[in-house]
Amino acid sequence: MLTDAVTTLSGVGEKRAEGLAELGITTIYDLLYYFPFRYDDLKVKAIDEIADQEKVTLKGVVVAAPIVTRFGPRKTRLNVKIQIEHTVVLVTFFNQPWLQDKFEMGDEAAVYGKWDALRHTLTGMKVLATQNSEHPSFTGIYPVNKHVRQSWLVELVKQAYDRDGQNLPEMIPDDIRAKYKLLPEQAIVAGMHFPQTPEQASAARRSAVFREFFLFQLQLQALRQQTDATSNGLMIPYDNQALKALIATLPFELTRAQKKVVNEICADMKAPTHMNRLLQGDVGSGKTIVAAIVMYAAVTARYQAALMVPTEVLAEQHYAKLTALFQGFPVNIALLTGSTSTKDRRSILTGLESGEIDFIIGTHALIQKAVNYHSLGLVVIDEQHRFGVNQRKILQEKGLKPDLLSMTATPIPRTLAITAYGEMDVSIIDELPAGRQPITTTWIRKNQFRQALDTIKTQLGLGGQAFAITPLIAESEKVDLQNAEQLFADLQGELGPQVSVALLHGQMKAEEKDTIMRAFSDGEIQVLVSTTVVEVGVDVPNATVMLIMDADRFGLAQLHQLRGRVGRGHQAAYCILVADPKNEQGVERMTIMTETNDGFVLAEKDLELRGSGEIFGDRQSGLPSFKLGDPVGDFNSLAVAQQVASQIFAQDPTLAQPEHKMIQRYLNSIRQKNGSLD
Ligand code: ADP
Ligand code: MG
Repeated sequence: MLTDAVTTLSGVGEKRAEGLAELGITTIYDLLYYFPFRYDDLKVKAIDEIADQEKVTLKGVVVAAPIVTRFGPRKTRLNVKIQIEHTVVLVTFFNQPWLQDKFEMGDEAAVYGKWDALRHTLTGMKVLATQNSEHPSFTGIYPVNKHVRQSWLVELVKQAYDRDGQNLPEMIPDDIRAKYKLLPEQAIVAGMHFPQTPEQASAARRSAVFREFFLFQLQLQALRQQTDATSNGLMIPYDNQALKALIATLPFELTRAQKKVVNEICADMKAPTHMNRLLQGDVGSGKTIVAAIVMYAAVTARYQAALMVPTEVLAEQHYAKLTALFQGFPVNIALLTGSTSTKDRRSILTGLESGEIDFIIGTHALIQKAVNYHSLGLVVIDEQHRFGVNQRKILQEKGLKPDLLSMTATPIPRTLAITAYGEMDVSIIDELPAGRQPITTTWIRKNQFRQALDTIKTQLGLGGQAFAITPLIAESEKVDLQNAEQLFADLQGELGPQVSVALLHGQMKAEEKDTIMRAFSDGEIQVLVSTTVVEVGVDVPNATVMLIMDADRFGLAQLHQLRGRVGRGHQAAYCILVADPKNEQGVERMTIMTETNDGFVLAEKDLELRGSGEIFGDRQSGLPSFKLGDPVGDFNSLAVAQQVASQIFAQDPTLAQPEHKMIQRYLNSIRQKNGSLD
């Protein structure tokens, strides 16, 4: 039976069972779905067809007895000569002296290794079956450990397959399998373990990857169903005419993408389910206005709406903008941050509790203990990645179940958004408002700094403003401050007394920062030197230069965010990266920045350059890792799996239909294993 322990197979003693358990294999089922992570193509090639450093199999006759030489402690070299056609090839194995016994003069031998085309030698990696090579030419390579060897594992899989391979339950419903041309389970297992050709292996992999994503998505859907059921979400019957009236007052036409996401969000709010939606849009794509519209929707249904942002500067900027926007509309807006005076704070808290305030903007102060709401219907979290903690949980602990909209400009590829935030719905604003000036990005070395100065001077001459950013790099804040101060002094010296340069850094008091930020925003300050505090959200349309020092110290996502601070007005804008990267990766990052302005392209590249873990920081642990599938490379498969899994739950929420019985059993078994799904 599939549920039998691996110890029921012959040859599995205690040690090996332990070794298998370490690999996560305890049952026959586990073993059959323990797949190779890659394949070696051991095809025999003619010598003149082999490329240098290629891994190949050579087959020939042993023409000189193997010799083992020792050099250094525990280091050995085994040399053996094999004649292939008319060429004699020297094959060397390092540190595997026991292979000596495998070679007999005059015998035929097949060896696998790395070819050196110049010397006509092979660095041996393994000896395949000697004599009439019964070894398959195309073999899977498994992750193994010291108790479990490759060749033994392959034998064991064969044994299990012969015994129980016919009894594998079909997890993917027949109609879906037919529609997407997926293999049945037995063919997946056979094709993954025992493919004869690379084509067979990749066909099996295609189905196996889908299967993996599908099972994962089923778990997410089940989890989501659980939360939906327990969270009896709000129904927000907003006033569509009122929304239209608001939109009509805007000085611009909403983009197609903005309209699309407003509709998606409004539909969610109207539905009785609990909204938990992620809104992604590149910097400058116009997320704020979308937030304002949907918050107004909540207000028209007599609910309160809260907009939570990561910094006070940003909260104030949003407050100013939204107050202007809602001029003439029946909306009572308030601002609550850490630096709101005690008196104001008290009256705001009262207003929130009585329901007199409809619309509150602020930092995380908004969800602190003392804050009570009359009828909180919608919470919008701007730049959600900036908040470390789980907002939803905090809100729930306060007994609140508002609809939630999280906004982010960190362009997570949709693929990863689905996997990492699988419990959320995702809306994407995938176009920028028309008429945006392109941002020209250049990368210069430190010794070319003069070029940066020239650009800044020209732009200031045209009436523009400039950001100059230094990174937080040093261990101590003091050193970072020194770097910023140095740049500040340099720029002041170079640009002369008629140009007003200011310094903004993280250690300043909130009021000081605000004063400077406001002066910059009003055009009183022309050049703002800053540590990365301006990174998020701030809107200064007149700024046309973004100078970034030591740019290689920043991640691509962060550089892109910073760059997004300029190019928001009608003038052409410039981003200048100053960096002497220390490695190839740094060079690549600088180069790609100059090549594209597309945040999603950068995000994909970022992922490629540093692996998926880092993008999420704290979320790392929450990010599922797949055994076979690659969420980026196998994007389509993941997207289809999500779609299919959610359709199944939509059609058959209790999984009662016969074709979903296996799925139900699978989810139950997982629930049992984990205690519960969450
Ligand atoms: P982000 O998505 O980065 O938060 P913002 O919401 O700050 O972007 O919008 C950037 C700028 O674009 C703002 O000045 C905003 O008024 C403007 N904007 C937003 N939507 C449009 C549009 N449809 N057409 C023209 N300008 C727009
Ligand atoms: Mg924004």
